Amino acid sequence: MNVEVVDANVAPIDANDLAQSVTSESKPASSFTQGDDSSNCASDVVDPKEKSKANKVNLLGMTRKELETYFETIGEKKFRAAQVMKWIHQLGVTDFNEMTNLAGSLREKLSHLAYAAAPEVVHREYSNDGTRKWVFRVGEGAGSLVETVLIPADGRKTLCISSQVGCALDCSFCSTGKQGFQRDLLPAEIIGQLWVANQSYMEDTPVGERTRTVTNVVMMGMGEPLLNFEPVVASMQLMLDDHAYGMSKRRVTLSTSGIVPMIDKLGDQIDVALAISLHAPNDELRNELVPINKKYPLVELMAAARRYVARGAPLSDKSAQHKAVKAKIAQNQVSKDSDDQDDALEPSRKKHVTIEYVMLDGVNDQPHHAKQLIQLLNDLPSKINLIPFNPFPHAPYERSSRNRIMAFQQTLSDAGYVCTVRMTRGDDIDAACGQLVGQVADRTRRAEKWKQKIVEHQQINKSTAEPTSGQRREILRTRGS
Ligand code: SF4
Repeated sequence: MNVEVVDANVAPIDANDLAQSVTSESKPASSFTQGDDSSNCASDVVDPKEKSKANKVNLLGMTRKELETYFETIGEKKFRAAQVMKWIHQLGVTDFNEMTNLAGSLREKLSHLAYAAAPEVVHREYSNDGTRKWVFRVGEGAGSLVETVLIPADGRKTLCISSQVGCALDCSFCSTGKQGFQRDLLPAEIIGQLWVANQSYMEDTPVGERTRTVTNVVMMGMGEPLLNFEPVVASMQLMLDDHAYGMSKRRVTLSTSGIVPMIDKLGDQIDVALAISLHAPNDELRNELVPINKKYPLVELMAAARRYVARGAPLSDKSAQHKAVKAKIAQNQVSKDSDDQDDALEPSRKKHVTIEYVMLDGVNDQPHHAKQLIQLLNDLPSKINLIPFNPFPHAPYERSSRNRIMAFQQTLSDAGYVCTVRMTRGDDIDAACGQLVGQVADRTRRAEKWKQKIVEHQQINKSTAEPTSGQRREILRTRGS
């Protein structure tokens, strides 16, 4: 593992001595007023780098449309937007003076009016298995750190991006949920995570030879992306834009815990892949694991998922295009990578939803749960991704055994579902799913209440021993938060 603390003020493991967290207002994707520092919301800026950004506009998080409008407002042609986007997002160049196809006068103007900057990286770790993790500071204090994880597998480099600082939804198996909600991320703070990940592979390469390395994005990090809708959609528009990251819509996935009305709104505004963090096959269990289920129960969630899928054109095996793609695969003109094949088939591809299902020992991993899941997904085109649980301190659950996970997978496969088991990657840097905030200091009332319950339990039992996972689940049920 290669650990680098970029900011000497941030300890590599224990961030408990970081200052008090702050809460900032969320801003719409379209705001680009002078002095809007999208990457740093705290106003008491003394760093010379930050000082140079004062009263300037951050171009990093602007969509093409917003950037075109911006150039018009400063008396320039709209086409400058595409030029600048390519420099920033494709070549990783943020110094306007290096943008050689811009007129000298425009470079000079931009250097006075604007900048392009991702949030500050305060900590980065590269795992032996190729996983990379970054911790970004998006404000002042311990509550203003977010994490991003890059996981390489099967020739892909998949980046898991955060959309909020903390999360309000408090899923009982999730360490981010224990942190509580701090604030929404701005577009520059969301797309900045992708910019930094690509940059980490580019920085030693001459500008003319640079290529983007991240192949897939999942909006599955800290936060519920559909509760930070406009900035998330703006960021995904940049991911899809040929002048920015040019990613296939199949390779950009939004994962939601089930904010039903926003799933429909998402389908109205952008076409990306959808994943649902399901984790339970019935309402009673899901109410416990994913409390938002009490507001949007499974019957409504499954209906919304079906509506989302129905927006895609059905794939016909007999279509000329499908045959042509098959021929290309046979001639090795399209790789065996399923994403590449999906890309080639895209215009006539049938949509599906990815179902995320965390495997919790003795909680949701029994044979009858698998059967209920099959019934629930009956008429929904779906692929199922089983995720071995990654315990975090005081977690009320334990990971299902390998045998249990394999048996669960077999039941689903036998019923005709494509069912994969996610490899746990990056364990040596706390980067695996569910551990995103493992190192981040946790100062919210929710976290304090949770810790207090654990202490009370120990006092009642006159023991310093940690409660068992079963006892922690009981605490969870009675904590009243
Ligand atoms: S699983 Fe997702 S929605 Fe649930 S608390 Fe964690 S970050 Fe929030």
